[in-house]
Amino acid sequence: MQLSERQERIIDIVKTSQPITSEEIAKKLDLTRATIRPDLAILTMSGILDARPKVGYFYSGKEAFSFLLEQIKSINVSEIKSVPIVVDEQTTVYNAIVTLFLEDVGSIYVTSDGLLTGVLSRKDFLKNAIGGIDLNNIPVGVIMTRMPNIITITPKESVLDAATKIIEHQVDSLPVVEEASINNKSGYRIIGRVSKTNVIRVFVDLCNS
Ligand code: ADP
Repeated sequence: MQLSERQERIIDIVKTSQPITSEEIAKKLDLTRATIRPDLAILTMSGILDARPKVGYFYSGKEAFSFLLEQIKSINVSEIKSVPIVVDEQTTVYNAIVTLFLEDVGSIYVTSDGLLTGVLSRKDFLKNAIGGIDLNNIPVGVIMTRMPNIITITPKESVLDAATKIIEHQVDSLPVVEEASINNKSGYRIIGRVSKTNVIRVFVDLCNS
């Protein structure tokens, strides 16, 4: 969040003269109370200033950065996830590569009977293609990273949780999953995808808002 010059000056005034009423702040700025009302609203909503009725404004000690952090922690994966691209384990490596290009994604998820069984990244395909495997006959199930080694995330976890898993496990994306039982088999149903791009978009949107 970018603060205006006037908002920065209001913060300085409150820091040095707290508690201070909006009228006194306006007077110090040579402005009317009505003029600074929107600024005070932004500063209190973002948690930088505390407003106490009949007392005045206090500086909370929180800067805009911590407001940004709180926002990031409060946004859920369900709000930022994108549509997952999923193929069945029997799909040939060739057809999965075609899907990767057509869908313009960097990773593909794999299911068997509707439940998550694997992940395929760009480099998985490259490695196997230059290794000379029979792309037209080998199914993706042979080359994918397999359960239980898949790092997943649930819709209720935060953007920060997603970013932490992506960094800790050095992967580009996480399948968003919910527990499911299909044909008496229990596992995960894939309901979305969170990639580095989704996380970066949150930063850009927050900074531009
Ligand atoms: P790239 O291979 O293009 O650098 P990744 O960093 O996403 O892309 O993948 C690195 C390796 O980790 C690949 O072998 C891939 O199959 C595997 N992988 C990708 N995403 C996950 C995930 N969410 N959980 C576990 N393994 C993954």
